[in-house]
Amino acid sequence: DFDHKANNQYGKALMTQKTEARSEFAKTRTIAEQRKSLPVYGVKEEFMDLLREHNVIVAVGETGSGKTTQLTQYLHEAGYSVNGQIGCTQPRRVAAVSVAKRVSEEFGCELGTKVGYSIRFEDCTNDTTIIKYMTDGVLLRETLFEPDLDRYCAVIMDEAHERSLNTDVLFGVLRQVVARRHDFKLIITSATMDSDKFATFFGNVPVFTIPGRTFPVDTLYARTTAQDYVDAAVQQAIAIHVGQGVGDILIFMTGQEDIEATCVLLADRVSQVGEDVPPMLILPIYSQLPSDMQARIFESSEKRKVIVATNIAETSLTVDGIKFVIDTGYCKLKLYNPKMGMDSLQITPISQANANQRRGRAGRTGPGAVWRLYTESAYIAEMLTMTIPEIQRSNLANVVLLLKSMGVKDLLSFGFMDPPPQDTILNSLFQLWMLGALDNLGDITAVGNKMAQFPLDPPLSKMLLQGEEIGCSSEVMSVVSMLSVPSIFFRPKDRAEESDAARDKFFVPESDHLTLLNVYQQWTSNGYSAKWCTDHFVHQKSLKKVREVRGQLEEIFQQQKLHVNSVGNDWDLVRKAICAGYFHNSAKLRGIGEYVNLRSRIPAHLHPTSALYGLGYTPDYIVYHEVMFTVKEYMQTVTAVDAHWLSEMGPMFFSVKESSSDFHSKQRQEAEERRQMEYQQQLRDDLDRAAKQE
Ligand code: ADP
Ligand code: MG
Repeated sequence: DFDHKANNQYGKALMTQKTEARSEFAKTRTIAEQRKSLPVYGVKEEFMDLLREHNVIVAVGETGSGKTTQLTQYLHEAGYSVNGQIGCTQPRRVAAVSVAKRVSEEFGCELGTKVGYSIRFEDCTNDTTIIKYMTDGVLLRETLFEPDLDRYCAVIMDEAHERSLNTDVLFGVLRQVVARRHDFKLIITSATMDSDKFATFFGNVPVFTIPGRTFPVDTLYARTTAQDYVDAAVQQAIAIHVGQGVGDILIFMTGQEDIEATCVLLADRVSQVGEDVPPMLILPIYSQLPSDMQARIFESSEKRKVIVATNIAETSLTVDGIKFVIDTGYCKLKLYNPKMGMDSLQITPISQANANQRRGRAGRTGPGAVWRLYTESAYIAEMLTMTIPEIQRSNLANVVLLLKSMGVKDLLSFGFMDPPPQDTILNSLFQLWMLGALDNLGDITAVGNKMAQFPLDPPLSKMLLQGEEIGCSSEVMSVVSMLSVPSIFFRPKDRAEESDAARDKFFVPESDHLTLLNVYQQWTSNGYSAKWCTDHFVHQKSLKKVREVRGQLEEIFQQQKLHVNSVGNDWDLVRKAICAGYFHNSAKLRGIGEYVNLRSRIPAHLHPTSALYGLGYTPDYIVYHEVMFTVKEYMQTVTAVDAHWLSEMGPMFFSVKESSSDFHSKQRQEAEERRQMEYQQQLRDDLDRAAKQE
């Protein structure tokens, strides 16, 4: 549905330009030459001079100007690293790993030695590491154990414009670090937007602009917004492939599922176009993709590359040679619903700022074009100017627990650049109190302090601690580790039935969590065998990862002097521990196979991949790990629980209706209700007081 005349004219113009393919460009130049050709190289001296005079600098530059890969190395070359490590934070795991790999190549060392990375559950550094890339979450955790970050001489907070939750919290924490340490350099980098805000927040620090070079990009809008953006994107990619000159294509999708669908559909359609159509190289990129597959987007190729990406390719990763961008106009965002007290990933329209970043990817090495699969009026009238920072739209329980364990008593006086909504803070405090991590005054408890030691969401760490208390921490640890990796079960399209049958054999009737435990234990007792994995249609890579994660949880157990204990085959206790972390996510059977969420009263459904669904077992009460919204609300990873457990562990929500003469239980219930109301009131009072003081 595009204006095809414009397209064709544009195509001709491009073809006459006979632009050099980037593969040649990269091959014929050494790494040193490539480094020198980056825009940041031209202003290196100026930048380093400014850094000598100021401890904090905001550096702004177009994506691809060399901020992420070069600034760390410049700091090292200037000698800062004699006083400690140079850290660089990334909001995304993929970016941390990919960039570290690139820089280790530039540096001429093996990854994990002088240049390394650290992401949750995966530390690829050693004691010789000078330059360390990491997720912002990892650095935030490090401040828990080392409040002044003494091991670092400098930190680069990269991609600050992303305003990820952890970055926003780090802003507050690092502002205190720079106030205390005068031998510490902090560089905040951003792709243009928001830079003055950052500079003001850190006390009017200088903003350094890296001059960019960009080429004009034609913007083409759809006449009507696409109904099926996967299909529309595939059609557009083929139109470009057939009708346009040299240049790679970048398609922005929302997540793994539609990326995979796009790749399959595109491969299929392109083979149908005709025999004389040259082949294309279709490359997906998303966070859960194995890292060797991720690296392929950077390899040079004779064929036209079509990269299908999440918004990771918006600013975090730069692939040279992109000339055509197809923008679906959507991304996946974590949204928090304070009423229901939970986060969910939802497909959401992007902001204008995102759209323009996406367009910019087409104009890095020469003029290009972007096809927006939405209308111009949608862009103008329906899109927000900028995405709302994550801190204002996600669950803060994790962050609140971390800050509380760092000794921050009053969350409102903590220096947030954009404070989260009061309701969200209240809700997080409530959730932590409900899990026993905070006491009635909102102070952290002994359990809360233990929970904060784990790089896990509070319900998961609660589940672990409860498991320890009732003697099944070993089993719970396996469950938690299994939950930390995606897709254990392998389901090849051509062997769907066979693989489904293999999966069904693992089913534990009353629980998906226990089904996961079952898989893990069988793999263990089969000597971690690769053949066993293939035979049973499970991903060996994922299981290996589970084993690693489990090892790290065990280490934390040892450090915390917690016991690794096992209940053998008595898995009812394991379900009880699961209930202790997840009683707030519970549902009750309402009709045949239909559940209703116990707190929100919203209908909830068993996911078709659930063991309970598969075996047709519908217990009265269940807890679930998370919900997924598609056409319906689906509960993911479900476990049957006893009604008594719910009332025992979540007395603030549930009570078992005994006969009315049961005076004691009624009294207890009333007391609990009172306690809950008092607590909520107390929180409100505290927050009001703090707000007045501001
Ligand atoms: P910025 O952070 O300013 O967006 P980067 O430092 O990430 O820029 O990228 C600078 C250049 O380094 C990119 O234009 C690209 O050519 C190159 N580059 C970055 N990562 C890789 C990689 N993994 N493989 C090959 N080249 C890369
Ligand atoms: Mg960067």
